[in-house]
Amino acid sequence: MGLSALPATAVSIPVGRNRECALRSDSRCSESFELARRASRARGEPMDAGLPGVPAPRPWQARAGGVPHCDTLKLPRVPARVSEALVLRTYPLKEADLVVSFLTRDQGKLRGVAKRARKPKNPFGAGLERLSHVRMAYFQRETRELVNLDSCELIHSQFGLAADYWAGVALDYFAEVSEQLLPSAEPSEKFFRLLVAVLESLQPPAGGNGPALPGSVWRAVTYFSLWAVRLSGWLPELHVCLGCGSVLDDPAVPQRAFFARGQAGLMCGHCRRAPGAGSSWELSGESRAVAAEMLRLPVTNLAPRAWAQATVADLRRFLVQQIEEHAERRLLTAPLLEEGN
Ligand SMILES: [Zn+2]
Repeated sequence: MGLSALPATAVSIPVGRNRECALRSDSRCSESFELARRASRARGEPMDAGLPGVPAPRPWQARAGGVPHCDTLKLPRVPARVSEALVLRTYPLKEADLVVSFLTRDQGKLRGVAKRARKPKNPFGAGLERLSHVRMAYFQRETRELVNLDSCELIHSQFGLAADYWAGVALDYFAEVSEQLLPSAEPSEKFFRLLVAVLESLQPPAGGNGPALPGSVWRAVTYFSLWAVRLSGWLPELHVCLGCGSVLDDPAVPQRAFFARGQAGLMCGHCRRAPGAGSSWELSGESRAVAAEMLRLPVTNLAPRAWAQATVADLRRFLVQQIEEHAERRLLTAPLLEEGN
């Protein structure tokens, strides 16, 4: 499995309701509550009686009589989380807000509202750009589809690739395919790792700014498409005819392989001519060999090859057709990638 070589460190930090104290230090939290306690005393009120946003003390808290530790502030209905995430897409909402679709490593694809994200000095900065790799802090309510985004910390942006036209189209394609293929709130760490791996494979050498390495865009797009279809469970056997079951890559009798829209797998030359088969395209032996290699190795360990737009373009067409078939819509970015090919 190619993906097995990828880093697998999970980052999920459920934190208490008071984000500051959970993310920074308990002392800050204790200080603020000590101040609140003194103010309450000065007003002759019992502790916690009127603190905004703090629930009435439970009996055992009242008995303890002291400053509550941060843990006691966790509200079961509003758990706050910090997840490692990749931003897929944003949509404007009202005057100043954004709806953000993002893929977390631990919770799958989520959508949330980023309040005031379109105002200057918002707590999101550049973190909501397409495919920014971030640590996203958010509140989740079980009864609501949208989470509330609190802030995000940038781990890695894709700004370095901004000057590279094809890399930009590839990023749009990754985001669109992920948005279309992934169900909401179903964790898929492998898909997350796939995206991180193909994004890393586009980075210019030594982390500098500038265009992606020549050819790396086509390698990344092909690798991503193949694994996106594979992880979604729709990748057919690439060495067997779907129609008659004959082996296509028997070294003694190698056969040509064809694919068509609406067909879940490959066809041999004979089955391709069956009535009602419709128009079809050939998937070359080279493309099938590249696919087999990509299913075995991480993207950066593939055998060196002069990648260009025309390299295994038939494989990408086949994979895009599979994606479109299952997403039940055409991808907007796929034709851009094959423009002029
Ligand atoms: Zn056949």
